[in-house]
Amino acid sequence: MKPSSQDRRSEYITGLRELADWLEQHPDVAVPSDERMLLPLLTNTAVEEFAATHGLTIETDSDGNMAVDLRFGCITYHVYGYVDFAEHRKKGEEKQARAWADSNDMVIQPREVASTPSHADRVVAYRNPWRPGVLLCREHGEGWAGMEPLTSDDLPDGGTCTHGDPADPSDVCGRDVLIDAPQTGGAR
Ligand SMILES: [Zn+2]
Repeated sequence: MKPSSQDRRSEYITGLRELADWLEQHPDVAVPSDERMLLPLLTNTAVEEFAATHGLTIETDSDGNMAVDLRFGCITYHVYGYVDFAEHRKKGEEKQARAWADSNDMVIQPREVASTPSHADRVVAYRNPWRPGVLLCREHGEGWAGMEPLTSDDLPDGGTCTHGDPADPSDVCGRDVLIDAPQTGGAR
């Protein structure tokens, strides 16, 4: 069975006393050089609550992370939190990664994202949603508010641009929007 936090707490306190006794009985044994005992509370809010409850003074570092130190002789009980623990950890990991790269003569670079053409790049024509008979090539359809952009997937049967004067066929654009579509993202 897992010990309850109360059991664990009692054990910890007993252990501390036994450690102190043992060190006292063995004067030739060195004591640790780090006199801090760390209690992470993760958030600044938790540190503020802790400080308020025990009437202690908060110290804030240059990143805004808070800590409270309780001193018992040369031993410090260091209670600390962060503005944003996830962000703090991310920064720490990045620093570590950069240090490693530096010491191995490497640089960290963003991965090149394979460029898949976006929907906007693949637009071949525009349709007027209120007048289904109207289809415009890119040249004639661009910039009109309310026009619906279409890709070749939307036009399985192709289509021709209806821009112009319907009464005068010679004045109608008539461009096949699939064949004459400006090519993007590939060899010309
Ligand atoms: Zn046209």
